[in-house]
Amino acid sequence: MKGVYFPGERTLELRDFPDPEPGPREVLVAIKASGMCGSDLSGYRAPKEVRAQRAPNVAGHEPCGVVGARGAGVSEQEAPIGQRVMIYHYSGCERCKMCMMGYYQMCPTEAKVYGGMYDGGHAPFMKVRPYMMVPLLDELTFEEGASISCGTGTAYMALKRLNVSGRDTLAIYGQGPVGLSGTMLAKAMGARVIAVDVGQERLQLAKEFGADELVDASAGDPVQAIKDLTHGEGAEATLDCTGNATARANTVRSTQNWGRACFVGEGGEVHLNPTPDIIHRQITLYGSWTFNPQGQTECARFVVDRKVPLSKLLTHRFKLEEAEAAYKLFDTQTTGKGVFVFA
Ligand SMILES: [Zn+2]
Ligand SMILES: [Zn+2]
Repeated sequence: MKGVYFPGERTLELRDFPDPEPGPREVLVAIKASGMCGSDLSGYRAPKEVRAQRAPNVAGHEPCGVVGARGAGVSEQEAPIGQRVMIYHYSGCERCKMCMMGYYQMCPTEAKVYGGMYDGGHAPFMKVRPYMMVPLLDELTFEEGASISCGTGTAYMALKRLNVSGRDTLAIYGQGPVGLSGTMLAKAMGARVIAVDVGQERLQLAKEFGADELVDASAGDPVQAIKDLTHGEGAEATLDCTGNATARANTVRSTQNWGRACFVGEGGEVHLNPTPDIIHRQITLYGSWTFNPQGQTECARFVVDRKVPLSKLLTHRFKLEEAEAAYKLFDTQTTGKGVFVFA
């Protein structure tokens, strides 16, 4: 089968991979949709020497499809052929404390990231462990299921960690696929949302998805702008979806005294001054890394029950053969979200 591989330095190869056969305790999923997520870009942009150090694998960590075949030791109840499933894209040892919590990505000995080091969803078929399949609700499309499988699920779990409610003004830095998901989910949770970005197109999309206020961080100090919108106090809750050092520091600094801030944007660094930025302002700072299968289930249920307009986020649809152009576009212009759709 053909699958997307990133050789590095913004190149992409549609490469021949062996047709996967499910081994013991494995399930073969026929992929119907596979989303493009911000962290795919780190593999896409990585130096060629770094990529060359390991065996090529299929990219894509937002897979969604139907059960195609079962390996030995997988029962009909665990994996009914034809069942619509989202893929939770990690596996682990299945025995340690983190695995028992369902946080297989935090397994200290055997954590595997599918679409990272292991074969992911940018191909017609993918091999998974039975517990990596999260049933896709009938009300959701495969594309929406793909989005929940990383970006949207990540935003949901961060908002849950922040305990966002209708009493909060929430400032979200970065209105890419995760930030935009955060904007629409937080609106459904009742919060007043201040969307922050440096791109006008993204800010307009945030407005369409329900943002109450827009702050263009390229036009002035966003911390001051957020204070101006919150009677000088700052927001009760803040979320960074950028991974950018300046935006991260601004996220903490635009949180009001006793407020909560959360980082989900990955990579990079931040410089904070703990006494004035955190300690003397009694700030609670969270890190939130994706979710467990139960959280993924909960996010999907929330999207359906609260009629979150998730389908609107999916602005760009591609065939796998268009992968090179798709990633080129995603690398430079990232308004909305792209997804590969399989027949
Ligand atoms: Zn483990
Ligand atoms: Zn992701």
